[in-house]
Amino acid sequence: MTVQQVKGMIRNIPDFPQKGIQFKDITTALKHPQCLRWMRDEVVKLYRDKGITQVVGLESRGFIIGPAVAMELGAGFVPERKPGKLPAEVISVSYNKEYGTDTVQLHKDALSPDDVVLLHDDLLATGGTMKAAIELVRKCGVKKVYVNCLIELDFLNGRKELGDDVEVTTLIHY
Ligand code: AMP
Repeated sequence: MTVQQVKGMIRNIPDFPQKGIQFKDITTALKHPQCLRWMRDEVVKLYRDKGITQVVGLESRGFIIGPAVAMELGAGFVPERKPGKLPAEVISVSYNKEYGTDTVQLHKDALSPDDVVLLHDDLLATGGTMKAAIELVRKCGVKKVYVNCLIELDFLNGRKELGDDVEVTTLIHY
């Protein structure tokens, strides 16, 4: 598969969920077995030698490819969730969105200081969501944090928000 072929399978939905947003719908790509495998394999290739111990997936589209990547890397999978979803004691980070604030949480005992973490989501836009995830994972005192998203909206420059001290990879650029 080529990036161009995968791009051809990602559906663009104008004005969803609100006016002005060009929503990149990956469901049309995920249903192709070859494309599903490509997404997993391309991420795995990038992190094979990094000693990743935990893949942290962002709710909810980070839960699709994230666990498959974790299994291939011999790592565990940790879900980062919205408030009220995780049943045990949590740590939280709140961040500003265009309208209001949002909060993300991890179980307090989900990560340990020895962990090398790969944060994973489907798409990097303005970077606010991933920035909060980095802060949350760092609060756990882990050894190192890497970031991967399947898609990056280059024109929004979200990567800049994440700082120079974190390696960011993405597979598909718009
Ligand atoms: P941001 O915090 O702006 O980087 O937004 C990233 C989060 O919002 C990710 O979890 C994406 O799934 C979602 N998202 C933002 N913009 C889009 C878009 N144009 N298409 C699909 N998902 C998006």
